[in-house]
Amino acid sequence: MLKITNNKDAFICPHCGNKLPWKELIQIHKKNYQIVCGHCHTHLAPKSIMSFPWGFLFGFLGFVVPAKTITYLYGNAWYGLIAGIVGGAIVVLFLIIYLYNTTEFIESF
Ligand SMILES: [Zn+2]
Repeated sequence: MLKITNNKDAFICPHCGNKLPWKELIQIHKKNYQIVCGHCHTHLAPKSIMSFPWGFLFGFLGFVVPAKTITYLYGNAWYGLIAGIVGGAIVVLFLIIYLYNTTEFIESF
């Protein structure tokens, strides 16, 4: 997984220093979310997490802005739809990379 910051504590178990799987990001927005370290089996919780509505808003903008722009420029709603899907996917990908690089965990009991 891509590293874009120097935050060495991001997505690392604070107990043993084991790297946590980035795929956990898919579920991380859930309330009271916990992850179990695969190495030392410590229960971990994210220190802070960007709220889900923000992620939704960015994904929405990533879809709507290119879709509207391309539809306006080419007068073709199908091109707009494709541009929207690509734009939305890029935004979601960036969000995942961003969260992977910034989310720190603490031990929870
Ligand atoms: Zn651990």
